[in-house]
Amino acid sequence: MTARVLDGKALATEVRARIAADVAALTDEHGVVPGLAAVLVGEDPASQVYVGMKHRASEAAGMVSRQIVLPDDTAQEGLERVVRDLNEDEEIDGILVQLPLPDHLDPRPVQELITPDKDVDALNPYTAGRLAVGDPTFLSCTPYGVLEILDHAGVEVAGANVVIVGRSNLVGRPLSVMLTLKGRDATVTLAHSRTRDLAAVCRQADVLIAAVGVAGLVTADMVSPGTVVIDVGTNRGDDGKLVGDVAYDEVAEVADAITPVPGGVGPMTVTMLLQNTLEAARARRGLPRR
Ligand code: NAP
Repeated sequence: MTARVLDGKALATEVRARIAADVAALTDEHGVVPGLAAVLVGEDPASQVYVGMKHRASEAAGMVSRQIVLPDDTAQEGLERVVRDLNEDEEIDGILVQLPLPDHLDPRPVQELITPDKDVDALNPYTAGRLAVGDPTFLSCTPYGVLEILDHAGVEVAGANVVIVGRSNLVGRPLSVMLTLKGRDATVTLAHSRTRDLAAVCRQADVLIAAVGVAGLVTADMVSPGTVVIDVGTNRGDDGKLVGDVAYDEVAEVADAITPVPGGVGPMTVTMLLQNTLEAARARRGLPRR
């Protein structure tokens, strides 16, 4: 094993401590306690775990955490009413609606309803549009976490070839936008299931980011020596263990640096949700970013 391990869990602990200190200062100086509301529809076990993690993390950071659990047969109108109420709720600075929703519900109108000043999950198309034109806005939590990992590791992306595999609205596409903004200045290739000769495309990467959802898709022959590999994928193996999109052991022999799964991008995703909620609480009161 030669690659440097980029420890997202340790970084998350460090960043969360800073966020908790900032929350404490906001409360002391301005009497403001940031509030995060998570809406969960139904009983999907993975979603319950994710919402539980976000709840514990926001409470640990000194925030108000409100969990709203709606029954599986909630109507579209009922869900949208809950979001409208949260938009008006002064105690709440950030709203997230946990995905996936049950099949009978359409997430898009719900995301469009979340008021942009509380859109801490950054899934409202208005937020995505502001990002695309380079205006200040909330950054989608998983891509934001990836940027933090790269920054903390001292990886220079300006001018570098970054290959992202996966073009979802949740991860790949917003990450491609963030990396190509002026100031970040990466040259990005956004690959997907129709990409021809994915292995050859990946071998061009200085930084290779996998956000696909296929266990072990990225193998050592797809990675050039010296590449920084970021694994966003979270897949359950047959044994129930969490594995990434990258064949970790063999790729770690070739790469310069690599994130593990678990303990890489995942903890940073929750952390950046806290960061966004803190920023929302400050911005909603006209306070500058810290
Ligand atoms: P998604 O919406 O299913 O998108 C998957 C993307 O991968 C699509 O663009 C798809 O291409 C592409 N793809 C699928 N098979 C491929 C193949 N064989 N070769 C090349 N590209 C392929 O998934 P997502 O929501 O972005 O999530 C991706 C992974 O990240 C999942 O494992 C998810 O659990 C994980 N995730 C982790 C975190 C975290 O915090 N760690 C957060 C979010 C997501 P097409 O567009 O052509 O279909």
